Amino acid sequence: MLRGLISTVTLVAWFCAVSIGTAHPGHSHDENDEQMLDEIAARKLPVLLAQLSTENRGHDDDKRPEIAKAFDAFLKTKAIRTRWDENFFYVESNGIPSHPMMVGITAWQQQVPLPQPYSGENAWRIPLRPVPAKTPLSTKNRFLRGAIALAANGIPIFNPLNNRGEDSYAIGELDEFGGHCGRADDYHYHIAPVHLEKTIGKGLPIAYALDGFPIYGYTETDGSKVVGLDQFNGHQDSKGNYHYHATKTYPYLNGGFHGEVTERGGQVDPQPRAEPVRPDGRPLRDAKITDFVETQPGSYKLTYEVRGKQGSVSYVLANDGTANFTYVDPAGGSRSETYTPQRRGRGGNDRRPPPPPRADGPPPRGEQPGPPRDNGRGPKNTRQDNKAKPRSNLPQLAISSAALDENGYISAEFTCDGASASPPVEWTGAPPETKCYALSLWHTAPDIEKSYWVIYGIPSNVTILAKNAKSTGTLGLNDKRRAAYDPMCSKGPGIKTYHITVYALSAEPKLSANEATRANLLSAIKNITIAEGTLDFQYERKK
Ligand SMILES: [Zn+2]
Ligand SMILES: [Zn+2]
Repeated sequence: MLRGLISTVTLVAWFCAVSIGTAHPGHSHDENDEQMLDEIAARKLPVLLAQLSTENRGHDDDKRPEIAKAFDAFLKTKAIRTRWDENFFYVESNGIPSHPMMVGITAWQQQVPLPQPYSGENAWRIPLRPVPAKTPLSTKNRFLRGAIALAANGIPIFNPLNNRGEDSYAIGELDEFGGHCGRADDYHYHIAPVHLEKTIGKGLPIAYALDGFPIYGYTETDGSKVVGLDQFNGHQDSKGNYHYHATKTYPYLNGGFHGEVTERGGQVDPQPRAEPVRPDGRPLRDAKITDFVETQPGSYKLTYEVRGKQGSVSYVLANDGTANFTYVDPAGGSRSETYTPQRRGRGGNDRRPPPPPRADGPPPRGEQPGPPRDNGRGPKNTRQDNKAKPRSNLPQLAISSAALDENGYISAEFTCDGASASPPVEWTGAPPETKCYALSLWHTAPDIEKSYWVIYGIPSNVTILAKNAKSTGTLGLNDKRRAAYDPMCSKGPGIKTYHITVYALSAEPKLSANEATRANLLSAIKNITIAEGTLDFQYERKK
């Protein structure tokens, strides 16, 4: 399945010897972590290297959890750091594998690999005692953003499918190792990294799903054939322990979660976020990546071809965190850009910051080659609080929408740039006593809450609104005081975050249609809301 390792790539293991983590084992989230995260954010990786001890954090060695074994090989090479507490096993990495990257990609979004601050509070975490879910969730139409598993080398693994049901591997988005880079220049896999077996050794998992169950290769640990896999690519061993397997066709790895996970904003929650340094790229039609090398320490060059002509992206990462990029397009034009990472803000407000740009977007449409357009917004600089923080104490509904891509970006079809259709929305998890639902699509501008779509009186047996649904429930008023869906039509530059909230109600709200604004809806349902859920998504107006 993997198209073979390319030995001609002379990539020197990039930062593979860098282990990033907290300098003071034993403290969980303190000033040191904050400082360390900021330093990592500033990409001061070589400096960090000198500060770190190789000591592995955790409890006594005899209490070392079983899961630690799978990560040992990469702990030894200092590609990762690990630690654990009562409930979780934590893996810190800079998101850069030691194998060659990017070569072989034929559907490319002009992203390149940059180190990521998966460390401290932003480390990956895996439950130590996975709990089989009462209602196991498939990844077929959900969890389309963010990681669903973590490879033993500290690289996240995303859903192999996007929202249109397209298979990342099949459509040429992946390199020979099954990975590529997302919008934040974050490298991740979309299929099981079975190539890691060579490094990890026999008998150990190659990855862990984020529900805590291990993922093994194509065979059982004794080399025997895998039989009796369930719909999620999993089964129980003779001792009754559940595990997943890699397969050469879809779902490639866990096709769902046998174990409990929290779904929030369309992804497993919490999970680390990637930090962009530069604006995200656009698809470059007909480009094929032919080479990726470290030309000298800290300097990298990606070479691609478009219809026989060569282009390249070269970049140098400085100790102060600055990244200097030089883009040479296939027509011979050249342009340089310097990106300086911004210091991230501290979280702390109850309203969760926008979901991170985590990955790649839709498949290529025609685009001019060249550097990502800088529309003045620069990298986002809010650090997401990665603790699960529901917006209320009410039971949570899981909301999803096929209008979003795997990064949580809404398709232009649902905005003023497209057909202005109202998006399809689905939800699950309502209490049985639900009498009806209400829905609101809203956005918090710096000083004001905006409302685009209000529906109430949605019957309790409805859990799906189709695209352009007009005959379900009662349409309330948008901010233009019209009983209609008001397509988003962002005027300012940059990425904006919007929300779809669905409310499960114990009674019909007392609300007349000509007064049914978002504010009036919220006050009418205040005491009858028995569950709610919010899907965050992003919209960026392309000019
Ligand atoms: Zn098995
Ligand atoms: Zn991806």
